[in-house]
This record gives sequence, C-alpha cells and structure tokens, in this order.
Amino acid sequence: MTHVFHRTPGNPLPVAVGGSGAYITDETGKRYIDACGGAAVSCIGHGDVRVLEAIQQQMAQISYAHTSFFTSNAAEALADHLCAATPLPLDKVYLVGSGSEAIEAAIKMARQYHVERGEPSRRLVISRHQSYHGNTLGALSVGGNPPRRKPYAPFLLEEPKIEPCFAYRYAHAGESANDYANRAANLLEDKIRELGPENVIAFLAETVVGATAGAVAAEKGYFQKIREICNRYGVLLILDEVMCGSGRTGSFLACEQENVAPDILTLAKGLGGGYQPIAAVMCSKDVYETITGGSGSFVHGHTYSAHPLVCAAALAVQQIIHDDALIDNVIARGDQLRERLLARFGNHPHIGDVRGRGLLQAIELVEHRDTKEPFSSGRKIGAAIKKSAMEIGLMIYPGSGTIDGTSGDHILLAPPYNVDQDTIDLIVEKLGHAVDAALGGQ
Ligand code: PMP
Repeated sequence: MTHVFHRTPGNPLPVAVGGSGAYITDETGKRYIDACGGAAVSCIGHGDVRVLEAIQQQMAQISYAHTSFFTSNAAEALADHLCAATPLPLDKVYLVGSGSEAIEAAIKMARQYHVERGEPSRRLVISRHQSYHGNTLGALSVGGNPPRRKPYAPFLLEEPKIEPCFAYRYAHAGESANDYANRAANLLEDKIRELGPENVIAFLAETVVGATAGAVAAEKGYFQKIREICNRYGVLLILDEVMCGSGRTGSFLACEQENVAPDILTLAKGLGGGYQPIAAVMCSKDVYETITGGSGSFVHGHTYSAHPLVCAAALAVQQIIHDDALIDNVIARGDQLRERLLARFGNHPHIGDVRGRGLLQAIELVEHRDTKEPFSSGRKIGAAIKKSAMEIGLMIYPGSGTIDGTSGDHILLAPPYNVDQDTIDLIVEKLGHAVDAALGGQ
C-alpha cells in the first residue's frame, strides 16, 4: 500500500535509491541505463558531486530570498552564464520552476509587450499541432497533444494551431525540402491573415519537437521563413526549448542551428539536469525594455522564482557542460547513436523513421513501413516497449502524437551528454530486444 499518487496498481514502479552517471539503481539493486534522461532531463548524468557541493555552498550562504526583496549571486551568475552561452541577442533571463511555468510566463510576456505598445487587441497565440508545451491550463491551451487536452477541454482556450513542419508525415511525394519548408511556413502567414494580425501576439513552436512527435527537426529554412513572417506582421516568435535547449541537440540553443533569433525562448530540462527543478525564459532587449518601460514591471511572479539553491545547482550543471566540453560529446555520440539506430532499425518492417538531432533521437513505429500507417492507439505499442525495456534495465521515453490517424507512436532517446561509446551501443542493443519482445517477434 502506497500513499504516493503516481504509484498505482496498474503502474507499480520500482523505487529509485541511487544514481551514478548514466545509470539509476532501484531498491533491489537492479540497474537501469537512463537512455532518456527521464524526460530528456538528466544531461550530466546522476550523482555528480560538483553539483552537490554547489548546493551545499549556497545553502551555507542563503537558501531562500523572495525576488520582490532581493536578487542573489546565484541568480545573477546563472543569468550571466546563459546570456553568454549563446551568440543570439537574448538579453534578460526570467527564472521559474518548471517548463510549464516558463511557457505561461513567455505567453504573458508576449501579451504584456503588446499591451505596453498600445495594441491591446492582440491576444491570440498561434502554435502547432503535435506539440507539447506543458500541463498547466495556459500551456495546455497552446499545446497540440489531443490525449492530454481531452479531459480538460472545457477549461482550455481554443488557441489557433497550424500543421507542424514534419517532413516524414506531411511533405508531399516528390516535393523538395525547400519547397516543403516554404509551404509549411506559409501556413503561418495564412493563419495570421485569417485571424487578423491585430489579434495575434505570438507564434509559439518547439525548435525540435520532443514529447509529442518524437525528435522532429524542421526542414532547413523553415524557421527563417517563420521569422520573416513574424516580423512582417509584428508577431513575436517564441521558441520552446524546454526539451531541445541547453545543449541537447549539439548547440547551446537548438535555434542557433537554424540561424534564427526568437524574441522569447524557454529552457528547462537540461538547465538543471534534474538536480533541482528550474526553468528560464530568455527574452530580447526590446521585449524587456517595452515591458519595463511601460508599467514598470512584468505583471507576473511565483513564490519560488529564481530560488537561490536551485540557481546554484543549475549554474553548476551549466559550468560542468562547459568545463567538460560536453556539447562536443553530444555531437559525437549523437552521430554514433543515429548510425547505430539506422543500422539496427533502418530496414525494420515496423520502424518507419529514425530521426533527431544530437542526443535527442527517436524511432517512429508503424504498422506498415510502406504506407506509414500507425499502429492503432488501442495497441499501446509504446507502453509495451517501455515495459519490455524496463524489464531488461533500459529507460526509454515512449510517446504518441496522433491527431488524425496520420502520426504514430515513437520512442524518444535522450541519454546524458557525457554518455560513452559502449553505453550507446548497449542502449541500441537493448532497445532492439525490447522492440522485438513487444512486437511479439514480428
Ligand atoms: N515544453 C516542452 C517542449 C516540454 O517537453 C515540456 C515537458 N515535457 C514542457 C514544455 C513542460 O515542462 P514541465 O513538465 O517541466 O512543466
């Protein structure tokens, strides 16, 4: 009998008691390779004493100081570090406790920006189907994951959505990557015109789609076109890098690889690496100055914003990524992971696609490889693979993005940035066994 809500009879869950590097150990002594970082969180692995020391040092100084009274050295140093880590003109950092909180803050920043500029009619956020931006009501409203939205539909704002840039599912046969990128981006312009630019505050997208579609990067040029369209209509561009940011895809921000600077950007998982709950909203000087030049401050806040202990932990994690040159390892091991996945699954009858960037990679599961027909949702194939994987000591992250029967289940892999070569080989070997076991030897 347990009083823990998330441990149910249908989902009994092992008890985690230890963690070291890429491994988690349960109370029976069984070890699991953390091939997905939980939900793409654990970026420097588990049990790094350098983070423990940073938290202890901060605790010896000050654990908590409310942001309406104080800033802290830890928050200042973390914000400096994040702004220096990217060449993009993101100038200010608003620190919160989770990815959903970051999205809520990003949307409210965009709204206040337009209010301060004297355009209060602007209120709509355009986002994309097959996206995930969090589970709080505002974040769920702008997210495009139907199963997560369904029970709460009456509470949600019906925010407008467009199709994502997802070549495997939506590019036409014979269409060039460039033509598809333009066609997908033009959907935004059509939507802005349909709604009236005077009603739109922002376009929100994950730079690389994580949980809902499975490591889907846009075609080259898509985000540049999106940026042009946003500029044309005075619509802010918000990029959600809660999952794909903080080095996960091989650059500190995933949008650096797109040569696109957003107005507002969210970070979370790899920011604290799971050592403490933290998220950040980075914004341009224009957004910051417009908001603070009007009513004087951002009309928002949380009790635990910029919590000093949490900031100290995140700063230590970011320092480790820098000092240990982990983004170089993300690139090298990401290439290896992709190669191994293609070798193992490239001709598999039920794997339709292998895709991703850096150490955010996925396989998409299909009933028929040729037609790309997904498994029926009742088959719960992703959950079955997760169960088989856990039995053999492998953590993987299954997901499903079905909106209209066109998109299937996927398995997301996101090992720590310091994963070694042998562990990558073992992940793919074990994943192969888990997939075959769940498919019943098909
Ligand atoms: N945005 C993205 C892209 C995410 O992947 C997630 C979490 N999976 C969130 C927002 C929400 O973050 P959290 O679960 O920390 O609220």
